[in-house]
Amino acid sequence: MTTITDHAVAVIGGGPAGLTAAIYLARAGLAPVVFEGDHGPDGQRPGGQLTTTTAVDNYPGFSTGVDGPALVADMREQARRFGATIRTERVAAADVRGHPMRVRTENGDEHTAVAVVVATGATARMLGLPSEARFLGRGVSTCATCDGHFFRDRHVAVVGGGDSAMEEALALSHLAGAVTVVYRGARLRASHVMQQRVLARANVTLLYETVVADIVGDQKVSAVSLVHPTARQRTLPVDGVFLAIGHEPNTGLFAGQLPTDERGYLVTVGRTACTPVPGVFACGDVQDPTYKQAITAAGSGCMAALDTERWLRERDPVTANGFGG
Ligand SMILES: Cc1cc2nc3c(=O)[nH]c(=O)nc-3n(C[C@H](O)[C@H](O)[C@H](O)COP(=O)(O)OP(=O)(O)OC[C@H]3O[C@@H](n4cnc5c(N)ncnc54)[C@H](O)[C@@H]3O)c2cc1C
Repeated sequence: MTTITDHAVAVIGGGPAGLTAAIYLARAGLAPVVFEGDHGPDGQRPGGQLTTTTAVDNYPGFSTGVDGPALVADMREQARRFGATIRTERVAAADVRGHPMRVRTENGDEHTAVAVVVATGATARMLGLPSEARFLGRGVSTCATCDGHFFRDRHVAVVGGGDSAMEEALALSHLAGAVTVVYRGARLRASHVMQQRVLARANVTLLYETVVADIVGDQKVSAVSLVHPTARQRTLPVDGVFLAIGHEPNTGLFAGQLPTDERGYLVTVGRTACTPVPGVFACGDVQDPTYKQAITAAGSGCMAALDTERWLRERDPVTANGFGG
């Protein structure tokens, strides 16, 4: 049987952005519900992207680093402690055009909310090789800022030819001993200035019209198998592979309802977490084409909660107070 539950605020997404928003909303007495998603074929999971990594060395407050899943589990418990309800369910449909807004989960339950915080994250594009999933976190990475440090003085491959691939290659060239950029096209898509910066680095080599056919190793990556149209397949020994072929912001639920930029990221207004639709707020990687870090996601989750609280109290003090404020 379908149940309908009313909330002041529904948070969609249970990564660092959504959980930080929930901590602030709960402490403000707004008793948020968080839909943290579930394990899906698209790689989505409760806790978000940090649950796919082990060592997180750059989240402040942990001098010896922290395990990714443990960090998110603590955020979840912190939100619960102040009264957030965490539901391990995927949202199947959302309607944020009217008031109250409506959310339907995959099991068919209906929820209404006066305000909605979108924190659905982004998904890194993968090559589609079975080996890349096996080596994710064991030599395969989608984030040089996160994992470059682990490849100091090693040889790494960067896959991609756009601006983000050049940025990853540039960052890695200051850490790794050698960086090989593998690009399937004949000419890089990256801007001229980014290409020049990368080409100026003595330890970077570019391979054009080359495809990664496989990632090879035992417990961790030891090589990539490369295919070029006019050469024999060859093996390039590397310690790490950085996939830099873009991210897909998870905005499908809001298609036609919330504006996105040319890359598909949700648009927020000025230096706020407000979307152009009143009562809808966005935080974390789903609205961030640039930084894509746990700390920036958490920071923008805080912003989203404060903006939500302010909007609710101005628009609807009765509802806001009725939920415990
Ligand atoms: C392998 C790896 C290592 C990383 N290492 C670091 C690191 O060391 N340091 C660092 O700062 N950053 C790191 N990052 C980046 C960091 O994980 C992200 O920037 C951060 O997790 C973004 O947080 P988020 O809350 O915006 O989104 P996410 O963490 O992506 O969370 C999105 C949430 O939305 C949920 N969701 C999506 N769709 C739905 C739906 N329809 N219904 C309900 N829920 C939904 C998901 O289940 C998930 O809970 C790493 C990323 C990866 C992939």
